[in-house]
Order: sequence, then C-alpha cells, then structure tokens
Amino acid sequence: MSVQVKEIIQLQEEVSNPLHEFQHHLREVCELLRYSEAVYELLKEPLRFLTVRIPVRMDDGTTKVFTGYRAQHNDAVGPTKGGIRFHPEVTGDEVKALAGWMSLKCGIADLPYGGGKGGVICDPRQMSTAELERLSRGYVRAVSQIVGPTKDIPAPDVFTNPQIIAWMMDEYSEIREFESPGFITGKPLVLGGSVGRETATSKGLYHIYNLITQMKGIPTQDARVIIQGFGNVGSYLAKFLYEQGVKIVGIGDANGAIYDAGGLDVPSLLERRDSFGAVTQLFTNKISNQELLEQPCDILIPAALGGQLTKENAPRLQCKIVIEAANGPTTAEAERILQERGIIVVPDILANSGGVIVSYFEWVQNNQGFYWDEATVDKMLQEKTERSFRKAYETSLQYKVNMRTAVYMVAVRRLAEAARVRGWVD
Ligand code: GLU
Repeated sequence: MSVQVKEIIQLQEEVSNPLHEFQHHLREVCELLRYSEAVYELLKEPLRFLTVRIPVRMDDGTTKVFTGYRAQHNDAVGPTKGGIRFHPEVTGDEVKALAGWMSLKCGIADLPYGGGKGGVICDPRQMSTAELERLSRGYVRAVSQIVGPTKDIPAPDVFTNPQIIAWMMDEYSEIREFESPGFITGKPLVLGGSVGRETATSKGLYHIYNLITQMKGIPTQDARVIIQGFGNVGSYLAKFLYEQGVKIVGIGDANGAIYDAGGLDVPSLLERRDSFGAVTQLFTNKISNQELLEQPCDILIPAALGGQLTKENAPRLQCKIVIEAANGPTTAEAERILQERGIIVVPDILANSGGVIVSYFEWVQNNQGFYWDEATVDKMLQEKTERSFRKAYETSLQYKVNMRTAVYMVAVRRLAEAARVRGWVD
C-alpha cells in the first residue's frame, strides 16, 4: 500500500478531527490538479502557528490562565485574515483547519488575503463583562507581534462580538501607539466598522439560498427550512428568510431545539433570544439538536458548530439541500452518504464567505479613510457572492466534482500559483 493511500485511509478513520478533514480534501484536490507533493506539504498545515497562555485576573481576585491560538495558514496571496473564537471546545487542530478554510474562502471570493484564525479556550457565557474585556486585551497582547493591518487581520467568530473586537482594537492601538482601525474587522461603526458587517454572513447565506433554490427549481416561498444555531448568523438568516416568506420550521441552540411543521414565529423568537442566541430554554416542547437535524424539511442549514452531520445521521436526514452556515459542520463520510442520496451540500467555504467579504470591504474603507453607504456594501456583497457561486458551480460541472471539491480546486490553484511565482514551489 502506498504512503499516500495509507495516509488517506488514516485520515478517513479520524474524520472527527477538522484538520484531518481539511487535509483529506486538500490531498484529493492536489491529486486531481496533478500538483507536486510540495504543494500539498506547503498547504497541509499553517505556515505559522502560535500557542499563547493568557493570565487573567478574575472578579473574585484569583488569576486564571487561558490558552489561546493564532494560525496563519498561507500568506502567498496577501496578509492572512480570519476570526477569533471564544469557546470551551476550541483546539489547536481546529484553529489550524479553520485557518486553512479561510484561505479557501478568500480564494473563491477573490480577496487579496490568505487565511488565518484564532481561538481561546474559555466559556464567555460564564464570564463577567470585565473578565471578558481583560481576556480580550490579554489575547491581543499575547499575539501582537504576529498580527497587524498588513500582516494578519482578525475578526469576530463564534462568541466574539463587536464589543470584544472594540477592546481588541483599542489594546492594539495602545501597544502600537497609533490608531489602527485596519488591524481588525467587525468593529462597531463608531470605531471604523462597516455598515452591513454584522449581518454580512447571513446576507451572503441568504443570497446563496436564493441561488441554489432557484437553480434546483425549489419555489423559494414554499420551502421549509431548519436552522441549527440562533447566534449572529442563524438568527439574522432566519429573519431574512422569514421576511421573504420562507417557512422556518425548526431552530436549535446550545440548549436544544424546537420544530413546528406549520412554521415558527421568527420575530417573537428573535425578540426573546439572549445575546448568545439561546431561546429554546423558554419552551417545554423541546427536542434535541440531533433530533432537529433529522426532521423533515427542504433546506437544512447547520449554523452552529462543526461536526454535526456525521455518518450516523446522514442516512436519516430528510432534506434536499444542506447549506453550511457553520464552519465544518459535515464530515467527509457524511458528505459521501449525502451525495449518494442525491442531497446537495453547499459548502461552508462558499456559503458563509459573506462575513469575510464585508470584512474586506471594512478593511478597504479603513485604508482609504472613506466610508460607503449600506446600498453600496449590499450590492457589492451580492455581486461577489453570485460570482463565487457561479465559479464554484461551473467548476463542479466542468470537472464532475461536488461543490466543495470545486471550491478547493479554484482556491488551491490560486494559492499554488502565487506560491509558484514567488519561487516557493515548482
Ligand atoms: N469568522 C468569519 C469566518 O469564519 C469571518 C472572518 C473575517 O471576517 O475575517 O468566515
């Protein structure tokens, strides 16, 4: 058995590790594109990966030391870019994979960036505002040497919000002794944020929803949609779809899920959710998140964490299309089963790229010191999303591959080309 075959089998056995998922797809695509081993070796891990320990004074006077990470996948095309997540289950391999996926998102959307990602192992739901502020500032002090507006530009991700981003921007400006709005994106408007950034990921997903349903001949208004996750992305997406007349039949959050075949009252749920997107605790007829995924619907949108659609539940899903709003919600094995069952998966690296697209607009506006109105941002986001979708769809038809492989092909080709002309690989 060749080393490569062994490696693929090993990767398939360990599918729950997101880095192995990333490497598995990367290996496949490098072989399809007939790239040298050097290209795979260059892209399979981030170019730089920093682990930091952050001491934080807690409100009770004790000191707690948190572990954080920053991964810079590849900067052949431009500075690295990607969010920072605060979550108790963050791992180093997860952050490395997420950085790789950011490279692919920037590639398909044609942004002048490579991918980056950060994470801190913590539970912000259990922390006070003052503790969160000290942690956010501590993280920036710990990674300040390797980030910057022309090096690596962070942004929000799971459980990080514009307030956390504002503290981070302020800390960075203190360290560098100058105002540096372009160091980070997802800022509040008053600190140089962009109109439309907060809703950008869900707006992008909304455009993707319209494109794929039209393409598959599913009448938009009659579709039944389940959204797992009611945070920044899931809640705005539910709102946009509901306003368009789509029936949202199920939503889930960290506490459970609710399902109603007749359609949920989305505006009332939006009003009652807390700042972490929790709302289902208010209901007595709850089901589990796993049960939610298997309920009947036309479009299933996982918008929470990774690893949700697995080889166990994939045979039982009752949807026609999966749109990945979260990063990495479908394992490679689950995707294979869904493909065999004729269920289309619109991959995260295409579907949720609205966030980084408007982050790019924010960074451009910071660099030029001139700010656009909402109509301009919306129009440019829609154009970029449609272009990315078409490119992915055409590539998938041309090479007879699924849309995830198509996005990998477009993005890896761009990275490899940049690395080649720089003289890094042949
Ligand atoms: N965290 C978001 C993502 O995973 C946005 C990243 C950014 O805006 O840089 O795409």
